[in-house]
Amino acid sequence: MRVRRIKYGRQRIDRSDRKAVAEVLRSDWLTQGPYIERFERQIAEHVEAKFAVAFSSASAALHGAAWTLGLGPRDLGITSPLTFVASTNAFRHVGARVGVVDITQDSWNLDLRLIPEKATAVMPVHFAGLPVNLEKWEPSGQRPKVIEDASHALGAITPSGPVGNCAHSDVTCFSFHPVKPITTGEGGIAVTQNYELFERLRRFRNHGIIRDRGDETWQYEIAEEGFNYRMSDIHAALGLSQLKKLQKFVSIRNEQALFYRDRLSALGIGLPPLPQAGFLHGYHLFPVLLQNRDFLFREMRRRGIGVQVHYVPVNELAVNQDMNTATTELPVTQDVYSKILSLPIHPGLSQGDLNFVVAVLEELHPPGLRTAGRQ
Ligand SMILES: *Cc1c(COP(=O)(O)O)cnc(C)c1O
Repeated sequence: MRVRRIKYGRQRIDRSDRKAVAEVLRSDWLTQGPYIERFERQIAEHVEAKFAVAFSSASAALHGAAWTLGLGPRDLGITSPLTFVASTNAFRHVGARVGVVDITQDSWNLDLRLIPEKATAVMPVHFAGLPVNLEKWEPSGQRPKVIEDASHALGAITPSGPVGNCAHSDVTCFSFHPVKPITTGEGGIAVTQNYELFERLRRFRNHGIIRDRGDETWQYEIAEEGFNYRMSDIHAALGLSQLKKLQKFVSIRNEQALFYRDRLSALGIGLPPLPQAGFLHGYHLFPVLLQNRDFLFREMRRRGIGVQVHYVPVNELAVNQDMNTATTELPVTQDVYSKILSLPIHPGLSQGDLNFVVAVLEELHPPGLRTAGRQ
């Protein structure tokens, strides 16, 4: 049996990244210095947002967004079931109730039409890097607060512009975990077009400290509690260096996806939804649908291929037992979850790696077993 060590996602670090980090170590600041501000400014420019606040993780940024928008026990936050637990935790951390609605067949993103009128907050998750289509979304009741969990989608584009320009949201959060589009080691960022939200995000990140008289006094005030959710300059320097490669990374991911689509459609494997006109997919993940998923998970892992299941639906986790499933049934989620498997996709993969993944699927995916996935 041939074996090749391949991960489903991995950082790609080069000499310029290492040099950037080494430079910070020789400077005066290791945290909250000039690299943080530069990183924030460049991310904001990149996604066409006015303001950006770097955090120690996307989970922290999402918590910050929920707090900044004033969510609390009176609120009901709705998100997608097909997401990481950080999405629902962000609502929980501020005491809000959480709920999910089913995903759509043709996006695997939350079905906006199912969001109940009583929802006061919505967290669209751009699953796998495919932006949620918010273009024509008209909430049935009062407009809820909207936080985009764009952890998968830095570099993705919508007809309204880059994900992160908050054309249909209050705050958008990105992750820089090593498997995400670019990395800072650990890290995240919240972007917004609203100055007041920006100020609150900054305060929340730094214990709630208000220094409205600058450096001319030692005094400061804390009106509301915050956290130490700061990103360090060491992380920000890596992020700045990585950001230069974002476009290249996203285009490599798109080429890899094209290769998989071409080779796997012949096997009758269910392919991930395609972006609609005007959208660019980020392809953080390449999840496919397989009738014999459990078998393939084991067999591909045995051959060194680090496939993964994204995600155990968040409503099935014990922490979310009390969850308000806004629609009682999640038929599409259940069907997708029973077959879904993320294949390796990241800029460090060679053509040999991709060929190996396809060859293993050709060997193990029995013809004649057609999946429910279309295309
Ligand atoms: C990775 C991820 C997060 C959390 O990101 P961290 O930076 O690791 O905290 C949140 N939501 C989704 C959908 C993610 O994939």
